[in-house]
Amino acid sequence: MDVRPHDFSISCVVPVHNEAANIPAFIPALHAALAGLSRRFEIIAVNDGSTDGSGTLLRELASRYGLCLIDFSRNFGKEAALTAGIDCARGDVVILIDADFQHPLELLPVMIGKWREGHDMVYGLRNGRDGESWLRRHATAFFYYLINRGSSVDIPMNAGDFRLMDRCVVEALKALPERTRFMKGLYAWVGFDSVAVPFHVQERQGGTSSFGLASLTRLALTGLFSFSDLPLRIWSTLGFLVAFGALLHGLWLLEEVWLDGVKVPGWATLAVSLMFFSGVQLISVGILGEYLARVFSEVKQRPNYIVARREDRSPLAVQKEAEARLQRRA
Ligand code: UDP
Ligand code: MG
Repeated sequence: MDVRPHDFSISCVVPVHNEAANIPAFIPALHAALAGLSRRFEIIAVNDGSTDGSGTLLRELASRYGLCLIDFSRNFGKEAALTAGIDCARGDVVILIDADFQHPLELLPVMIGKWREGHDMVYGLRNGRDGESWLRRHATAFFYYLINRGSSVDIPMNAGDFRLMDRCVVEALKALPERTRFMKGLYAWVGFDSVAVPFHVQERQGGTSSFGLASLTRLALTGLFSFSDLPLRIWSTLGFLVAFGALLHGLWLLEEVWLDGVKVPGWATLAVSLMFFSGVQLISVGILGEYLARVFSEVKQRPNYIVARREDRSPLAVQKEAEARLQRRA
């Protein structure tokens, strides 16, 4: 059943960080794919502090392909780039897609089809993680287990940023004020009628991935500590169990001394348990510190990104301005 208007506009957000090898082919391909879907669309390219000339390439393509181009003052990360794109998107639907051809353009009509059926969010669900190492696959599964055990929403494991969102979802996302942004969690948190479409992640066409082990771990920790209170609960439970165990052990020692008259030789046990409990305490302080660091960055109220330059050649911008002028006159 078709419940959406026939004439709808699309904003497509593309985060770009050092994608010079892909931009010249990707933007025209995306433009052609979008032109097949709607008469009214815009491409919002967010240049996230590229150092390989991606910005210049985008500027060259801006007028020909009607780009809305946002240049960050430095690299703020993919989550910030997506946030900036979502903030300035004007379309009735917003699509998020990577610039490296890993997200198949052929899926866009399928996503639009699902949206037309009435779903508010359509997300790509990667089938399989073939190219990844055993360690990375299991670490990812463990991470999702942890985060979903400790959070009130269910964050699907193989869903990424490749998705289509209706305007109602976009407005809900824009209203979230937090600085520590873990987008995969935020999409799940806002809710709405969501549906998955499976896809196979393509090979990166040019360049290299910006996400190494260190940045993935950082992102995972951000997600874990901003969406789950499980780490805190684990350590409180552990603290309780250890204290209870120590109490029982103490009682047992007392019984030995008082009732059986045994001399308790115990310096080795003492040294080992001292080291063990110091370790436990340090880890607990570390976990508390992680939460405190998140609070710290929230209270500073710094913006998520800084725009150094903006060039808006989007056809939707022209149209919106004309509409606003008409409204002012009326
Ligand atoms: N990206 C970004 N800022 C960053 C890192 C990446 O905007 O700091 C963009 C990048 O240009 C690409 C998308 O995010 O369009 C996904 O990045 P990448 O392909 O490096 O990640 P992977 O696909 O390996 O997870
Ligand atoms: Mg990629």
